[in-house]
Amino acid sequence: MKISVIGCGYVGVVTGACLGELGHDVVFVDIDKRKIEAINSAGSPIFEPGLNKLISKNHHRLSATTLVAEALEDTDITFLCVGTPSNDDGSINLDYVRSAGTDIGKALKEINSFHVVVVKSTVLPGTTEEVIKPAIESESRKKASREFGISSNPEFLREGSAVEDFFKPDRIVIGFEDERSKALLEDLYAPFECPKIFTDIKTAEMVKYVSNASLAMKISFANEIGNMCKAMGIDAYEVFRAVCMDRRINPAFFRSGLGFGGSCFPKDVRALISKIEETGLNPRILKSVIDVNEAQPLKMIELLKKHLPNLKGAKIGVLGLAFKPDTEDIRESRAIVLVKRLIEEEADVISYDPAAKDNFRALFPGISYAKTADDVLEADAVLIVTEWKEFEDLDYREKLVIDGRRIERARRDAAVYEGVCW
Ligand code: NAD
Repeated sequence: MKISVIGCGYVGVVTGACLGELGHDVVFVDIDKRKIEAINSAGSPIFEPGLNKLISKNHHRLSATTLVAEALEDTDITFLCVGTPSNDDGSINLDYVRSAGTDIGKALKEINSFHVVVVKSTVLPGTTEEVIKPAIESESRKKASREFGISSNPEFLREGSAVEDFFKPDRIVIGFEDERSKALLEDLYAPFECPKIFTDIKTAEMVKYVSNASLAMKISFANEIGNMCKAMGIDAYEVFRAVCMDRRINPAFFRSGLGFGGSCFPKDVRALISKIEETGLNPRILKSVIDVNEAQPLKMIELLKKHLPNLKGAKIGVLGLAFKPDTEDIRESRAIVLVKRLIEEEADVISYDPAAKDNFRALFPGISYAKTADDVLEADAVLIVTEWKEFEDLDYREKLVIDGRRIERARRDAAVYEGVCW
């Protein structure tokens, strides 16, 4: 098939590159020229394991442009993958999807064939039908379901293993209005053997929010229990290991630690809270999920102060700046909250991350960025914030370590060791 992908972030580039691997011709669109140049030079505009290789291997099938009209002209289907960040009040910012919807509408006006627009961006239930579809209809002067198709296909990939997640999804969810769009997406996803759920558009949109909210809730619950375990001298990991042997309880994400960050969980839970409140209901559980999560990284500072009561002038090492390993993404990283607090306490911060240093430097130009993780171990105390694999191989002997991610080597060897929930 001939496919266009609007938005070359984690979702767009991974979707397009993987569709290229399946033999489709893909045209990428972004307003960021650097991303377009990267793809047209056969490279990935983002750091994601396996992505560079896929893009260079399938380069003859992939191209990129800043012009939506140029991309749509010769394609049958468009994936909308632009960002949907939070507004300051936690509600969802739809500026990018609205603007991309308008551009798609203008392009569709000039196209005579039936074109299907598939919304992959995470949007609250109702958004595709009430915001994106009307934007396309009014610009194109065409009617959805009759003259073009509209569909929702939420994305569940995890940064750091996004390529693998694309090829081995747990399920594919497709919200549709008309049979022609459904048939096209059935065809596109025919090579995948996982369950495929065809439903209405609003339900598909809701599945994405409930999936993320469920995972976020597990993490906050694990942290609430973990904090109690720590206070009582109990190892939360031992507790959850045994609890999750119950077949009814899936162990994934039942992990005590520093809480969740990243570009999705915090913003999606906040957006859902705001939508539930808008409907006049009180999202009590979800509000607690956010409360627990916001307080969690500061537990590390409490534990640090048990050993170094005055942080002024103390050299504090921070291992890991990305919100999770194998990504350069620092959006809502726990390291942001921690470094901010360390700066307020006038500590001398030295940090290390194998991928996210440049992104973090743009936010915090005043702290030190070490070339190696070993350099960080020279500090008076070390905070382990992201579980990069290489942190398992460091020599923690004679060190004071506060561990937010359960690095076994540190737990075993550090002279003074505090696990955040164990
Ligand atoms: P991102 O911020 O990494 O990328 C978005 C891209 O869209 C940017 O490159 C931006 O320049 C581009 N863009 C914005 N407006 C545009 C326009 N009008 N025309 C063309 N390009 C435009 O975002 P992301 O992390 O890829 O997320 C995209 C969507 O997918 C969001 O709704 C997000 O919630 C959702 N999602 C993300 C993940 C994830 O792990 N990152 C997982 C599942 C779902």
